[in-house]
Amino acid sequence: MSRFDVEAARFDFPTLHQKVKGKDLVYLDSAATAHKPKLVIETMRRFYQMDNANVHRGVHELSERATLSYEGARRDIQRYLNAASHREIVFTRGTTEAINLVSNAWGRANLHEGDEILLTWMEHHSNIVPWQLIAEATGAVIKVAPIHDDGSLDMEAFEALLGPRTRMVAVAHVSNALGTVNPVRRIIELAHAHGALVLVDGAQGVPHMRVDVQALGADFYALSGHKLYGPTGIGVLYGRLALLEAMPPWQGGGDMIRVVTFEKTEYAPPPARFEAGTPNISGAIGLGAAVRYLNTLDFDAVHAHELDVLRYGTALLEQIPGVRIVGTAEGKVGVISFLVEGVHPHDLGTALDMEGVAVRTGHHCAQPVMQRMAVFATTRASLGLYNTREDMDRLADALRKSIEVFR
Ligand code: PMP
Repeated sequence: MSRFDVEAARFDFPTLHQKVKGKDLVYLDSAATAHKPKLVIETMRRFYQMDNANVHRGVHELSERATLSYEGARRDIQRYLNAASHREIVFTRGTTEAINLVSNAWGRANLHEGDEILLTWMEHHSNIVPWQLIAEATGAVIKVAPIHDDGSLDMEAFEALLGPRTRMVAVAHVSNALGTVNPVRRIIELAHAHGALVLVDGAQGVPHMRVDVQALGADFYALSGHKLYGPTGIGVLYGRLALLEAMPPWQGGGDMIRVVTFEKTEYAPPPARFEAGTPNISGAIGLGAAVRYLNTLDFDAVHAHELDVLRYGTALLEQIPGVRIVGTAEGKVGVISFLVEGVHPHDLGTALDMEGVAVRTGHHCAQPVMQRMAVFATTRASLGLYNTREDMDRLADALRKSIEVFR
C-alpha cells in the first residue's frame, strides 16, 4: 500500500477536474508546465487581495508584509534545496533566465579565447543557446558529449572531453525530451577533478526527485517554478555563495545596488545583485507555497507512484502496433516520448485532444537530440504526481482509436 494517496492529491489540483471536448481531462503535459495546487492559487490570491506592495523599499505595513513573504519564500526554497544560505537563492524568471544569468555574469568575467564549455547532446535549447552567445562574445569553444541510442549519456566520451581548458560543464539533470536521468553527481566529481564548474539544468529534475544541492556538490542549479507546481514567470538560480559573490551583475537597475553616483556604482551583495528591478513578488510567494505543499507529501512515495505509472504506461504503449518509444534509458523518469508509424505527431496530438488527452508534440525545444535520435518530432506524454494508471489506460485507448482513424 503506497503512502501516497493520489486520489486525495488530485483534489488539491482544481484544473484537473474539468471536461475537454466532452471528456474528463487527462493531463499529460506536466513537463511543459504542471498544474498548481490550491495552496499556490490561494496564497497568490491572498497576496494581491491583502498585501500587494513593492518589496525592500517601503516602510509601510503592506510593504513590510510583502518583503517578509518574498524573503520567506526564498528561505522556503533554500530549505527545500538544502542550500547552505538563503543568499544562494536568486529569483529569476525561470530556468532560461537562470542559465542566461550564469552565462553572462560568470561567463563574461571568466571565459577567454579557447576556453571550453562542455554540453551534452540532450540539452534543451535554453542550455545551449546562452552558451553559444557567450562563446561568440568571448572566443570560448563549445564541446558536446554524445549519447547512446537509448538516450543515456556516453560517460566514457564525456570524460574524454574534459580537459585542461574545460571551464564549465552545463548539463540537464533530466532530459525533457527523453526522460533520461543524468548521473549528475558523478559528472560533478569528474568536472571538479578537472577544475571545471558545473551548472545543472534542473528544470525537469526537481519535479521528479528531491534535490540536495550540497550533497550534489553543484556549483549552479537552475529550476523553473511552473514545472514544480508553482506559478509561471518565476524560477531559481542556486549558486554557491563564493561564486555568486565573485560574479559581476548582468542587469542593472533598482534593488541591485549599494550606492549609485555618476562616477561609480557599488553593487549590492548576492542575491540582490542579480535581482535588478521589481521582482515577480507574487510568483516568488507562490513558488514558496508550492514547495511547502510538496513538503506535506512523502516524496519517496510520490516518486514510487510516478514510476509505477510510467512503467505501466510504457508497457501499455509497447503493446500497440506501430508505436515506438524514443528514449529508453534505464532509470528514466517522467516522460514517454513516442512515434506512431505513418502518423505525424501533430496530427496525433490533435486526435488525442479530441479524446480529452493533453500531450505535447514537436521537437520539445531540443532539436539536437531529435537529430541524434533520427526523428524530427515526437509525441510526448509527461507525468505529474497527480497522474494515475487510469490516465495511462485513457492514453492507450485514445491512441488506438486515433491510429484507426489515420489508417
Ligand atoms: N531545461 C529543460 C530541461 C526544460 O525542460 C525546460 C522547459 N521545457 C527549460 C530548460 C526551460 O525552462 P523555462 O522555459 O521555464 O525557462
